[in-house]
Amino acid sequence: MNEMCITVWNIRKSKGMKKMEIKCCKTHVEHGLDVFVAKTESYPILTELSEDEKLSTVCDYCEEPALYLVASS
Ligand SMILES: [Zn+2]
Repeated sequence: MNEMCITVWNIRKSKGMKKMEIKCCKTHVEHGLDVFVAKTESYPILTELSEDEKLSTVCDYCEEPALYLVASS
């Protein structure tokens, strides 16, 4: 997790929001889904990032560009 992700997560937590998003590359998409289910106990929605987002987003678990977003519905 990079520093920005942690900051966003802390802001969301402090507001009492349960919404969670995980950005992951193709290697870590299954891991991201597992983490999401474990933390939120809800079913994740997997969406592909737009081309712009892919260029500016890094996987939460490695340094690869993120391809997918795991989020609640
Ligand atoms: Zn990764």
